[in-house]
Amino acid sequence: MEFSSKLLENAVNEVSRLPGIGKRTALRLVLHLLKQPKEHTKFLTDALSQLRSDVKSCKKCHNISDTILCDICSNPNRKEEIICVVEDIRDVMAIENTGQFRGLYHVLGGKISPIEGVGPQNLNIDSLVEKVQNGEVKELIFALSSTMEGDTTNFYIFKQIEKYKVITSTIARGISVGDELEYADEVTLGRSIINRIPFEQSIKG
Ligand SMILES: [Zn+2]
Repeated sequence: MEFSSKLLENAVNEVSRLPGIGKRTALRLVLHLLKQPKEHTKFLTDALSQLRSDVKSCKKCHNISDTILCDICSNPNRKEEIICVVEDIRDVMAIENTGQFRGLYHVLGGKISPIEGVGPQNLNIDSLVEKVQNGEVKELIFALSSTMEGDTTNFYIFKQIEKYKVITSTIARGISVGDELEYADEVTLGRSIINRIPFEQSIKG
């Protein structure tokens, strides 16, 4: 792509680093911004810089938060002894949208994936095991996507906490195998939390 302006080229290059954005789309977005009033670009860059500098990870559940404890963890009406284990904030948002879960979450920050070089040590697993060890947890609900990586991660955690005798369940497989949680519709996802099944039963297949 030949550019008449180095400034334009730089902006397009930066935007095209985003996932799913090719050079053509980046050019279209940048040209769109150029046609808008200047403050639109400023709002966008301010929002992104402020996010980067001020955003926190909740001390308790590792969810993305503006405060040390996120809104869910600091809500006294949530049942803190029931913890739903998810991969990332998109899953928290999907489950919250169903309105069917009143416990807390634990955000792992990914799934175990040897191919992508993600091992248990790269995820927030130790802090989850600690919560179980400390007796803070009565029930753990595994709500990872039903992919091989999701299953491996569930099983790894299950092995770590098995001896502590907490109730473990996994969301019912109304979620199709291989589906990412965030794409499930709210009714299906809501129902799969209500109809969760004991984890041990799920691995016996
Ligand atoms: Zn939290």
